[in-house]
Amino acid sequence: MFKLYIANLQDGVHTQEFTISPAELHLQDEELFGQDLQIRLEIEKVGRNIFITARLNAPLSLICDRCAEPYTWVLDEAYRMLFTSDPEMANDEDESTFLIQDTADEIDLTDPLRETALLAVPVKRLCRQECLGLCSRCGANLNAKPCSCKTEQTDPRWEKLKSLLNQ
Ligand SMILES: [Zn+2]
Ligand SMILES: [Zn+2]
Repeated sequence: MFKLYIANLQDGVHTQEFTISPAELHLQDEELFGQDLQIRLEIEKVGRNIFITARLNAPLSLICDRCAEPYTWVLDEAYRMLFTSDPEMANDEDESTFLIQDTADEIDLTDPLRETALLAVPVKRLCRQECLGLCSRCGANLNAKPCSCKTEQTDPRWEKLKSLLNQ
């Protein structure tokens, strides 16, 4: 669980930074989240309202869709939330607004931060934009070096031989 202590929070702007383990955001079962997450909170308290912008940073180990090699991708995502004890400010339709008790001395950021982290993971995963992927014939990783299939295909002598065979 990742909770922010707010009992002594003064009106105004505050910044807090944390380093937490994936388990604290209940991400321990997500293989991609193997390393600690950096969390930076910009907190603005205005009366009964606490605006929080959370910035998450963490290196993830992803597998490239094209070449199937593991690579490191850095998650860097911000999410803005409002925690309010003012029912007029609370809006059921806004997923980033949370109603809290006037007497609350801490707020639980686990779920919103967990969601933010999971939604930030790219669906399409490429080790680099120009990744050449694997050869569809021999399965060689073409980022390392061109495989012999490619040479054969582009070798003009082969093209000639092939056309002879096809006659
Ligand atoms: Zn790749
Ligand atoms: Zn090949």
